[in-house]
Amino acid sequence: METEIKGADGIARGAEIIKSGDIVAFPTETVYGLGGDALNATAIKKIFEAKGRPQDNPLIVHISDKSQAEGVAHVTPAALALFERFAPGPLTVVLKKKDCIPSEVTAGLDTVGIRIPRHDIARRLISLAGTPVAAPSANTSSRISPTTAAHVYEDMKGRIPLILDGGQCEIGIESTVLDMSGEVPVILRPGAVTIEMLLEVLPMVMNSRGELKVAKAPGMKYKHYAPVVACALASSAESAKKFYARLVADGHKPVIIGRKGYVSDASIKFMDAGDTAAEVARNIYKLLRDAEKLYDYIIIEKFSDTDLEYSIMNRLIKSTQGVII
Ligand code: AMP
Ligand code: MG
Repeated sequence: METEIKGADGIARGAEIIKSGDIVAFPTETVYGLGGDALNATAIKKIFEAKGRPQDNPLIVHISDKSQAEGVAHVTPAALALFERFAPGPLTVVLKKKDCIPSEVTAGLDTVGIRIPRHDIARRLISLAGTPVAAPSANTSSRISPTTAAHVYEDMKGRIPLILDGGQCEIGIESTVLDMSGEVPVILRPGAVTIEMLLEVLPMVMNSRGELKVAKAPGMKYKHYAPVVACALASSAESAKKFYARLVADGHKPVIIGRKGYVSDASIKFMDAGDTAAEVARNIYKLLRDAEKLYDYIIIEKFSDTDLEYSIMNRLIKSTQGVII
């Protein structure tokens, strides 16, 4: 097979190749990728063959816009907040996958890594192809990742039809991979989006050495109904208490706001928001105003998604900028 190298003028051809179930190398801001239609198991097999990649190493799925994320994964509010802040860019977010993603892409896992690359050629290619693009680095398995089209050619000559040349990769090392599929976000692979940057959006992140890091004041970008101090929604009383203890250990002064009886330990600062949804609605803004004067971190019980409770949650998700612990 002849391997052609083209610049941005080859994007349309590259998109056609992807649509036809074949594979193409393309530049991203991290390293060059070897991409195929993420929804087509045959294309995915071609990627593994061309690289000689072990089947148990999952591929990252690249999309051109965050609105496509819902099509491939179950997107949580916290993941959306991450995309708002860091996409397009060198951050891969691992989420529970949807059924349309074949198990070949994820090496049999029930999660999928999603990234929106920033490189113009990558985004135009993915959007023209009209499908999510699964792409590992465009090197032979276990070789050095390619940061120029010439590097890709060294490894992929005769194995793929087209390499899109977008010059030298701006960042030069692979994306940060953040697993958001469990209770605590975990960095699986460090990259140009650092833990300090992630802690601007998330209340806590486990680094790749297994150490839990807690934000000083996360997510101050989107201020709607927002207290002046950091806050987060708790998915259960257990996670609220665990997070409260972690904050205290880190020298914070947290409080938990919830319905009557949500937390009853005398050692935990708790504000009672009432019994019924109507009471919570009536009290919640006053409680937030009181809490921000006395505490530096507010943890709020997450209510259900029905009726008036839903309307309260709608405001609280904005108050917490989608941060759920
Ligand atoms: P590469 O595309 O060669 O940079 O490799 C992609 C890497 O992303 C894999 O080796 C994994 O470390 C990581 N990754 C991709 N998808 C997942 C997933 N579903 N769960 C955990 N890690 C993943
Ligand atoms: Mg690689």
